[in-house]
Amino acid sequence: MLIKTLVVGQIETNCYIVTDETTLRCAVIDPGDESNTILDYLESNRLTADAIFLTHGHFDHRLAAAAVREATGALIWIHRNDAVTDGVDQFKLPADPDVHFYKEGDIIKVGNLTFDVLETPGHSPGSVTLRCENALFTGDTLFRDSAGRTDLGEGNIHLLLRSLRRLYSLEGNYEVYAGHMDTTNLDRERRFNTYMKYAAEENPGT
Ligand SMILES: [Zn+2]
Repeated sequence: MLIKTLVVGQIETNCYIVTDETTLRCAVIDPGDESNTILDYLESNRLTADAIFLTHGHFDHRLAAAAVREATGALIWIHRNDAVTDGVDQFKLPADPDVHFYKEGDIIKVGNLTFDVLETPGHSPGSVTLRCENALFTGDTLFRDSAGRTDLGEGNIHLLLRSLRRLYSLEGNYEVYAGHMDTTNLDRERRFNTYMKYAAEENPGT
């Protein structure tokens, strides 16, 4: 597994290209903007994009999704709670009939890589964390030393704390690839992340 980070758009969103090096098939996680940058990377590395995974529907994570799909034929995946089928909502993906919805426990293969879907709502109602091998793609749920805000759209602090507690409780350590800012790992956040520690101690949602 090869993970490339492209920082895109006004809000400096981390777009991750996750490649199975044996097949050169890849997933594009959160193509937030700058489709040309993303497509250039795919082309210059001769990659075939099979899937576009959105961790949530906020505009800064999905503005280039349609353009990347158009250019590559990759399928767009998002949680149903972060999509709208009519109208406009800056915090939700306008979903056409070709958009696929994933949910808790779904498993999607990209080449020889296997992604599984963990629902981690709170920052938005349809926020998910994608797990692949030793990596967690946490979107705006968990950041290095921080966590996602809950004052946008349908954010919910109680759900966010429950989701942080869930990530805290996962077995073992993982590399954490967040939607913004630096990469970290789960053990580090368990020890130092104030939000995560609070969530784990308070047992919210139980
Ligand atoms: Zn967001």
